Parts: sequence; C-alpha cells; structure tokens
Amino acid sequence: MTGLGEHNLAALAERSFATKGDYEALLFEGRWHRSGELFERGRRLAAGLSQLGIAPGDRVVVTMANSPEVGIVYHALWRAGAVVTPASFLLSRTELHHVIADAEAAAVITSAEFADKAREASADVASVRHLIATGQVEDCTALEELEQAEPQAIVPSGDDDLAAVMYTGGTTGQAKGVMLSHANLDYAGCAAQAAAYVPGVNRGLATLPLSHSYGLLVTIAGLHNPEQGVGVLLRWFDPQLFLDMIEQQQIQQTAVVPTMLQILLSQPLEDRDLSSLRYLSSGGAPLAPQVAEEFMRRVPSVSIRQGYGLTETAALIATNPVGREKPGSVGLPVPGTEVRILDDELRPLPPGEVGEICAASPGVMQGYWHSPEATQEALRDGWLHTGDLGYVDDQGYVFIVDRKKDLIIRGGFNVYPRDVEDALLEHPAIERAGVIGRLDEVSGEEVVAFVSLRPGAQATSQELVQWGRERIGGYKYPREIHVVDEVPLTGVGKVDRKALRKALGELVHR
Ligand code: AMP
Repeated sequence: MTGLGEHNLAALAERSFATKGDYEALLFEGRWHRSGELFERGRRLAAGLSQLGIAPGDRVVVTMANSPEVGIVYHALWRAGAVVTPASFLLSRTELHHVIADAEAAAVITSAEFADKAREASADVASVRHLIATGQVEDCTALEELEQAEPQAIVPSGDDDLAAVMYTGGTTGQAKGVMLSHANLDYAGCAAQAAAYVPGVNRGLATLPLSHSYGLLVTIAGLHNPEQGVGVLLRWFDPQLFLDMIEQQQIQQTAVVPTMLQILLSQPLEDRDLSSLRYLSSGGAPLAPQVAEEFMRRVPSVSIRQGYGLTETAALIATNPVGREKPGSVGLPVPGTEVRILDDELRPLPPGEVGEICAASPGVMQGYWHSPEATQEALRDGWLHTGDLGYVDDQGYVFIVDRKKDLIIRGGFNVYPRDVEDALLEHPAIERAGVIGRLDEVSGEEVVAFVSLRPGAQATSQELVQWGRERIGGYKYPREIHVVDEVPLTGVGKVDRKALRKALGELVHR
C-alpha cells in the first residue's frame, strides 16, 4: 500500500486548516461559508464516498458549475485516494460521455440541474457504479447524505499517484486526459501562490471555471496561502455581478481570460468604486496590449499581469512578477520551471529567435491517459512540447507568437477545428467541412466554418448556424458558416486550413 506522500493534497488541506483555523472564508451567492464548515464537509464526504465503495485510484467525474461543493468534492476525493476528473458543465452529452467512458469513471458527481445529462452520458458505461447529485434527484445518491458519514483518516496516496485527470481537446479530435499527480498539482499551486503573493492582499474573486486546470490551480494555491485568504466565488462570469462583488467585498485580486476584460471594457467602469482592486491576472489566450492598457487607464488602481500555462503543466509556466511586468510578454518562468525554445530539429534557439516553447518542471504531467503515442510526442526527455511558438528575450521574458497546432481559442475556451468539423459532418446536408479561427475583438478568436453540401442537398448558412447552436457545445459552434462549392483539401486528403485562411482573408477584403 502507498504511504502518504509529502505532497498529498488532502494532507495539504489538513495543514492549511490547522494553520489558519476557522474563519469566514468563502462567499457564494449571498452566503458566507466558514473554513471549518468547508473542511468538515470534505472530511465527512470522503468517508461517505469510501463507504460507498469509491476506492483509491478510482476516477470520479465531477461536472458542476462553480459552487462551494466543487471544492468540497475535490478535497473529499483526494482524502478518499480517488482521482478528480473534472468535466465542464458546458460539454454536450456526447462530449461528457467521452470523458466518462475514456476515464472509465467509477462514479459521476453532479448537481441537480445537470443530472439528466450526466445520467444519459453515463448510461451505457459499465465502469460507472454511482451517480451522485446535490439535492434530491431520482436515481441519484444524494451528496448531502454521504456527508453524514463519520470522518476517517486520509486514505494515503503517494506523491506520484494520480490526483487528477483533466480532459483537454486533442489536435486529432477527441479530448485527451492529462494525468496529474499529487506532486504535480502541489508544485503548481505552490508556484502560483508564490508568484502572486503580496502580503495583505487577501481578498480574491474567483469566476473562472473550477473544472479547468486554472480553477483547480487557484483552489490549491489558496491552500498554500499562509494568510487567512477570503474568496468570493461566482457560479460563472457575469460582468455586473463581477463588478458588484469587487465594490461590495473590497476585492483586491482576481484572474480573468482576455475576453472577460473585453466585455468589462464595455461596462460603465467609471461609475463604480473599484479602487480596492490591485492585481488582475490574465491567461489562457493572448492579451492584446491595448486592452490591458485601456483597462488600467480606466481602473487606475489595477496592474494587469499576464501569465501562461497549459493543462499539461498543471497550469503556470510563466507569469509577470509583481512590479516587473513587461507588456506583451507572458512573463518569466515561475520558480522551478525551465523554458527552452527549440527549432524543428530540437536544437535550443538563442534569445529573440522564434521556435516551439518547451518546458520542464515538477508540474509537467505524467502523460496522457491511455495514449502512449500522444504522450511520447508531447514529452521528450522530460521536456513538454507545448505546441506554442514563441521566443525568450535577453532578460528571460517569454513571448508567445503563434500556435503550432490549429487550436482556436474562443473566449478562453479551446476549440479544436477537427472536433467542430466532425460535429458538422453529422448534418445530413453537409458533405465536407473545414474550420478555422478568425481574429475577433470580443472573443479573441471566432470559429468559422466552410462547408460543401451533398449533391442535391440544400441548406442556408443561417439554418446551419442554428443547427450547430443546438448540437455543438455552446462555446464552440461556428457563428459564421460559408457554404462553398468545394472545401479545399491537401494532397493527403486533410482539410487545407491554409487555403481556408486565404479564402477567409479574401472574403474579408472583398
Ligand atoms: P489549456 O490547456 O486549456 O490551458 O490551453 C493551453 C493553451 O492556451 C496554450 O498552449 C496556449 O496556446 C494558450 N495560452 C495560455 N495562456 C496564454 C497566454 N497568456 N497567451 C497566449 N496563449 C496562451
């Protein structure tokens, strides 16, 4: 049996509570939750899950909107020795099914509002033994009931044992599970806390999804905070509520994706007293310097720090140090992380030259779940090949130039063109589909599709967009679809995205 590792996340939660004690720690939808209450609920739920039969190493899919329960469930799963497998509540039923089936999940934990989707998505997956939901939902074990169990000791997991499998889109279509160990996540949380730590800056606002690696990271970073941090949690991003909370709760720091800043800029910021806000971290997608500048001009108390990371590194690779921010850069590698820029022959490049950004750190994943080939491609000699193109300046600051892969980032969410193409091909009238990104002021990038129709079939762009809105995940259906005679293909029969980009450029300039 594995002993309890020094980086065990359940033990970290225990130490954090022992140090900081019981205080009003989290505000969610008008109610304050004390740290003691949150900790105790996690301890009890862990025992309840173990008694239900959740065993060490079991993957448990968690699909919920942000709420205090998400953190409680993560903590409980780590205490029970299980593996947190988050799935965004925005996933379609088919996508959720893929995560549950691929992870061979033992259970799915959800909230009442997503219980039907979770039930349908797990119906034919033999590994799933339990469906657990908050509230009273038919056929589901009630989370509240499991919280009645008497607390037990932590079920020990070692540092290299898996703590999370996080699904992220793959360039070849289906999402792949990124395997992160207790040591990976502990390092990532510790590094993020150290990078953001300013004594006395303790009131944070969390609005990014806790199902994403960044949200998970923030949760763990909080456990590393030596002070009594106070958090306000939003179910999801709502610009009015976001600003209300900053004003009412004297929020000092928060993290956003660039699209959120764009949306905030269209709000009457000057009518608000946002002077408590000092630090704003931005990541997940490129931040246009003019957006950052305009925000800082309109909210003068704020300094915006850009950071960079991937699910595969358990989050941060680099971030701008407080007081030494460089506009346009994603900052310096965080302590313990090394960055190299490699050319196509894997030779390191000198400062200023563009190549693939590669990173080595204690946060780098164990590999992709059940995908040894993809793992081999991404991890070479301990270096993670990010697929991002960039350079490092002579002071070590990292700049991202472009993406090697075809990933589209719409509003901070990853959209893989092939994934959308596959979904479009399910429409009876569509014969071929090609998807690319187009720069967009609000979303960063917008998803654009080119489709050709089957002989004799008819469909207008509007009808297809409407169909996509209903069938493809809300954050990634193409808002713009061009019906063309032929979708260009490369010599080996793949969609020729270069040709599509050219066609789109011509459409724009016509
Ligand atoms: P994810 O695994 O969902 O976190 O997505 C990781 C990808 O997001 C990276 O490979 C980058 O392409 C992109 N990304 C993250 N942060 C930034 C940033 N600050 N600027 C540009 N791209 C970013």
